[in-house]
Amino acid sequence: MLDKRTQSIKNATAETVATLRDMQRWGVEHIYMEPYSTQELLPVCAALDSSAAATTPCRAETLDDIRADMGDCQRCPLSGTRQNLVFGTGNPKAALVFVGEGPGRREDEQGEPFVGEAGQLFNNILFAMGLTRDAVYICNVIKCRAPHNRDPGADEIAACEPFLRRQLDAINPQVLVTLGKFAAQCLLQDKTPISKLRGEWRSYNGIDLMPTFHPAYLLRSPEFKRELWQDMKQVLQRLRSKDL
Ligand code: URA
Repeated sequence: MLDKRTQSIKNATAETVATLRDMQRWGVEHIYMEPYSTQELLPVCAALDSSAAATTPCRAETLDDIRADMGDCQRCPLSGTRQNLVFGTGNPKAALVFVGEGPGRREDEQGEPFVGEAGQLFNNILFAMGLTRDAVYICNVIKCRAPHNRDPGADEIAACEPFLRRQLDAINPQVLVTLGKFAAQCLLQDKTPISKLRGEWRSYNGIDLMPTFHPAYLLRSPEFKRELWQDMKQVLQRLRSKDL
C-alpha cells in the first residue's frame, strides 16, 4: 500500500509520461526549453573575501539576494514596532527608480511602499508621466516604519542605508528620483535643504539623480506641485534622451 504522497507522485509521473507519448505521436521530437542559467548557481562576488573574489567565478547580487540577507531584520529598534518590512517593489531592471523616506502606517500594514495617502498622489504623478508602478522600482531609505511617522534617526538610517545602496547597485537604473530631504541628503551626503536641492541634476555613483519634493509634503503644501511637475518633466526628457 503506497502512502498518499508517493501515490500522488506516481499519478503525476504517469500523467507526464502519457502526455509525452501523446506528443511523440504528433511528431514532437524535442521540447524547447529556456537554457538553464548556471549563472544563478555561482556565489555572489560581494560575499567572497577579496582573494577568493579575484579567482572564483561569481555573480553580482540580485534584489532577492539582498532581501534574503535582510531576513527578519533586527539591526535597529524599528524592528520591534514594525508590522512588515517594506523592502521595495517594481521592476528589478527599471530604468527609473524612486526613493522615498520610509514606510508610513499603510505601508507598514501592507508591506509595500507608497500605498497610503502620499502613495495616491505618487500614483497620480506616475500616471501623468505615462508610467506604471510595474515599470519603475520604488523603495525607501528606511525599510521599517518609525513610530508615529517621526523622522528616522541617524542610527536607523545608518543601519538601513547600506541595503538601499545595494538595491541601487543591483538595479543600476539610468535615472534616480529622490522624494524629500532624507533620500536626497542620504544618497548625496549633502545637508543642503531640499528646497535648494530640488530641480537640479546631481549624480549618484554615475547615475543621474533628480531630487524633488516628497508627495506627503505636497499634500500639506499643494502650491509646490508645480515645482514637482517641472522636475518630473526633466526626468522624462532625460529618459527620452537616453532613448528609454
Ligand atoms: N512615505 C515614504 O517616504 N515612503 C513610503 O513608502 C510611504 C510614504
